[in-house]
Formats: sequence, structure tokens, C-alpha cells
Amino acid sequence: MSRSDEPGTNEEPGRSGANPASTDDVETVVEVRDLKKHYEDEGFLTGDPVRAVDGVSFDVYEGETLGLVGESGCGKTTLGRTILGLESVTAGSVSADGRDVASLSGTELREWQRDAQMVFQDPDSSLNDRMTVGEIIREPLDAHDWRGRPERRERVFDLIERVGLNEEHYYRYPHQFSGGQRQRVGIARALALEPEFIVLDEPVSALDVSVQARIINLLEELQEELGLTYLFIAHDLSVVRHIADRVAVMYLGNVVELGRTEEVYADPAHPYTISLLSAIPGSIAETDRERVVLRGAPPSPRDPPRGCPFVTRCPAKVRPDEFADLPEGTWNALDALHSVLRERSGSGTGLTERLKRSLGLSVGDGDIDEIVDDLFAGVTLTDDADAAVEDALEFAREGEDAEAVAALRDTFGSVCNREHPHPHVVDDSGRTSRCVRHEEGYDSPAEVVDRRLSRPRD
Ligand code: SF4
Repeated sequence: MSRSDEPGTNEEPGRSGANPASTDDVETVVEVRDLKKHYEDEGFLTGDPVRAVDGVSFDVYEGETLGLVGESGCGKTTLGRTILGLESVTAGSVSADGRDVASLSGTELREWQRDAQMVFQDPDSSLNDRMTVGEIIREPLDAHDWRGRPERRERVFDLIERVGLNEEHYYRYPHQFSGGQRQRVGIARALALEPEFIVLDEPVSALDVSVQARIINLLEELQEELGLTYLFIAHDLSVVRHIADRVAVMYLGNVVELGRTEEVYADPAHPYTISLLSAIPGSIAETDRERVVLRGAPPSPRDPPRGCPFVTRCPAKVRPDEFADLPEGTWNALDALHSVLRERSGSGTGLTERLKRSLGLSVGDGDIDEIVDDLFAGVTLTDDADAAVEDALEFAREGEDAEAVAALRDTFGSVCNREHPHPHVVDDSGRTSRCVRHEEGYDSPAEVVDRRLSRPRD
């Protein structure tokens, strides 16, 4: 496997231990380029596709652990499954050892499925309760017709021992084991065909904290011993801090920040990473920033915002010059109105709502004037801002919420609503962050978040 020299691909070296000190001496195991995985609706009432992964690029280096973090539903698992060839690719590419994973078939596909394995989150549902542990671990060897039966049996006993189980466990069934032991079985099974690369999908989330530590230690030992490369998917940032050499932060199908773990945790560059790390109790992040609470839930991947994917929740969003002097409370009210109208406009609505909409039936939630009275209580708008809000409300009163959203965006939007930021290199280690605030002429995301947080509401 070879190292890519393509520019702009967020390539960075590993952190320590078995990982190389610079990209000059590292091998690339997996190369992901502008990868997209979209799901189309099936049936008679189709809508926009779900953009689960929406243009992701990175490399995974031999012997490293790349952590993939983000809120539930941000596309992490889909990304892992697409890399392994378990999901088809909508656009872009995944390459391993010069092979385009999406186009593999026959022998080449079987080879990739030997080289790359997955460990699942829930050991309860990922192991077949009607098979003994020996059969479960041996199954991939049987499927790939690996050597003869005696060698397979020997290999299974070796794996059982390697993951810290006992010989007699060979004949037992998964329901006779604890959660941690079942996850050891899952790991042994993933190791059976001597893979180089393993996607670990929340491998310890379902386990007690004390068991988590033991499984993490086992994974680290196996990595060192067998030279494994991991993509470690997790929502728990403290686990990732412990095990990952580098970390990729995902939001709404995009990788927004990618860099060495120690640098990301010490000085997060992207506003989303800043908010994630600020939310960890007794923060493992090395900043003493107060908690950054984000507004609402992430938008639906069926209808991501135009421009930056984080724009609807970003605490550092660039504001238009003409309204730069509006007080913080006014911006909060405007942002909240924008969110309400976006929600009402049908973004991310389900099948029932779309059916009602297609039949011309109302799906609105309450009277917009009452909502506005609540949101803007005690807030004084300038004449220009007031006129713009009133224009938007005219649309909303007619049930044209999408037009109301567009009107607000036209007036109060900025470069963040227009441009999807590309990755900016933000430090000497090559860390990247996808935010326009890394361009010249803007205050950095951290400066703006801190300033806005410390500014009292009017
Ligand atoms: S570009 Fe940066 S500042 Fe603008 S919304 Fe996105 S993350 Fe926030």
C-alpha cells in the first residue's frame, strides 16, 4: 500500500507508538476521496435523497487509529460501512492498495473482505445465538475456504486465547457470556482472516465503563502485536481521546475537522468541535471554555442547509456587515425564528407530512405571529431588520414558509449561507478545519465563540 501525494486530502501523520512521525514514511491503507453515500426514497412518494455521507476525503495510515466522532445520525456508521464495501458508493471513491473498492467483484472483492473487517457496536445482536463461540469465530474461515478443518480449529483456539477467553469457551453459546466477553468473541471473529484494517463501530458503547477499559486495552495490544490499522467510530469523545492517534469530527455527512488527537483536544479549530469538547463533563479537552450549547437538533440529511452544513447551529457564524451592530439577543431571536420557519417549511419532514403537503393540507405548527411575539419579546429591531422580518412574515402567514426562510437568509445570511467551506490547514501538523473563519480577514472561530458567549444578553 502506498502513500498518496495528492494535495488537499487532509493527510496527517499518526501520533505516537507504532505510528510514524511524519507522512514521509507512512503507508496509506485506505484512501477516501470526495465520498458520497445518498439514499433515495423508494415507493410512489419520493423526496430528496438522504445525504448520509456528503463529500468526505481522508487517508487512513498503516498502524494508526483514526477516530471518527460526531453526534448520532451524522453518518459515521454509514461511512465505515461504505469504506468496507458493505454499502454502494453514490459518488467519489474508496481505494485500498490501488484497488477501487466500489468496483471490486469476484476474487478481488473476497480479498478486500478478508483484508478489511468490522466489529459491531452491539455484541448481543451481532452474534448468532444458535451457534457456539467456536462456530461463530470459525464462520469467516469456512466462508473463505481457509486451509483445512484441523488448521481452522487450531486457528479458532489461538484466537480465543488471544482475545483473553478460555479454551472451554469454544463450546459455549453467546448468551452464556457477559457483554465484554461477547465483544471479545466479536473481535476474535473479526481477526480470523488476519485483516490489516478493522472498522470498530462503537465497540465499547454498550459496555460498562470498567469493561470498556479492558476491551480498549485489548484492542491496543492486538494493534501493536498484529500491526492492525483501525477506524474507530464513537460518540464518546473521552474514549477516542484515549485510543486515537488522529481524530476526524463529522457533522451532517461531512468531516469538519481532522487532525492529531492531542492538537484537536488542546485547541479545537472548528466551531462544532469547540462545542462538542466544551460539553464533556470535567472536560478532557484542555481548554477551560464554558459550555457551548447549540441550538436545536442537526438539520435533516434529506435537506441540509445551503452553504456550510453547520450554518443553522453555528455559534461563530459570520454576520453581514450591515447588521453587525445588532445586539446578541436580537441575533438569538432571529436565529430562532429562522429555525422555526425552517422546521415548518418541511425540512426533514416524514412521509405523512410530505403526503399532506402534496395534497395541499397544512402542516404548520401554531400561529406565526404568536411565535414571533414570544421570540422577540423585549427585543428592539432596527428599522431595516424590522422591515426584513416583516417581509418574511408575510410569506409565513400565507403558509409559504420556504419563501420566508429564503427571505430571512437573503437579508441576514452571509458567506456561511453561500459557501461550503473547503478544508483549511490550521496548524503546522497539517490539521484541517472546514470553516470560512480560517480565511484572512475574519476572527478565528474560537475568538468569536468566546466573545459571543461572554457577551451578556440584552
Ligand atoms: S463557515 Fe465556519 S463560521 Fe460559518 S457557519 Fe460554518 S462553521 Fe460557522
